Amino acid sequence: MCRMDFAALTIFPDIFKAYWEHGILRRAIAQGRISATAVDIRAFTADRHHTTDDRPFGGGCGMVMKPEPLAAALRDTRRRLPRAVTVLLTPQGRVFDQPVAAQLAAAEGLILICGRYEGVDERISDTLIDLELSIGDYVLTGGELAALVVMDAVTRLIPGVLGGEESAAKDSFEGHLLEHAHYTRPQVFEGQAVPEVLLSGNHRAIEAWRRETALTRTVLRRPDLLAARPLCAEDIATLRELAERIERIIEAQHQRGVGPLSGGQ
Ligand code: SAM
Repeated sequence: MCRMDFAALTIFPDIFKAYWEHGILRRAIAQGRISATAVDIRAFTADRHHTTDDRPFGGGCGMVMKPEPLAAALRDTRRRLPRAVTVLLTPQGRVFDQPVAAQLAAAEGLILICGRYEGVDERISDTLIDLELSIGDYVLTGGELAALVVMDAVTRLIPGVLGGEESAAKDSFEGHLLEHAHYTRPQVFEGQAVPEVLLSGNHRAIEAWRRETALTRTVLRRPDLLAARPLCAEDIATLRELAERIERIIEAQHQRGVGPLSGGQ
């Protein structure tokens, strides 16, 4: 059985507990497919105030996380998880995405270091880190949310964590497409009906419709995903059909006298 050990190094260990007690992560922990521990960096301080931060050399505002407690917490955790990959959460890291999640899911363990204040002393990243990860181009107050994002996305890719019905294989970003649209009961909601094909019981037609909605929404919302990978002949045929349909709509509007030359009137 595949298993992953997660450890988050943080000055706020309680933040993690509520998340781990719910949903798929809770089930994965109960089944022994993952273990998750929050390591309190303060437990590795040597002074009676349990200080984890200090003023920056060179002056300036804000505080910096001191290297000694972090290094001690990390070395202690590595003794427990010797084969784990050590990740520093930072807005300056490589942007975390589904391919990175898939790579990390193959590791035996992940140690996630959560910064606070202005971040961690640079000597930690220089010497003790395997990978720096950012969850996006914005700045959070701390790395705990980012660590949970990484843990969550990685956990669902560990074989056996998702049941057959929850398979990750068709999720957005698996392959090059966003996932197709979803509908559930009721059949009509506030005057909007579920697409007829989904009620047809015709599995081939449903599969074709799903593929088409996945392609269409990827074209409209994230064309960069399509540009990044070669498309199969079937996808190209679907896109051509879509382009022809759009062309026919434009042509029909043009016939009615609507178009760029008529100023859209
Ligand atoms: N001064 C830092 C900078 O400008 O790069 C930002 C520090 S931020 C206020 C405090 C901590 O939050 C960081 O050390 C990091 O652990 C975490 N953090 C903030 N934004 C993040 C992001 N986009 N991805 C991952 N971690 C983030």
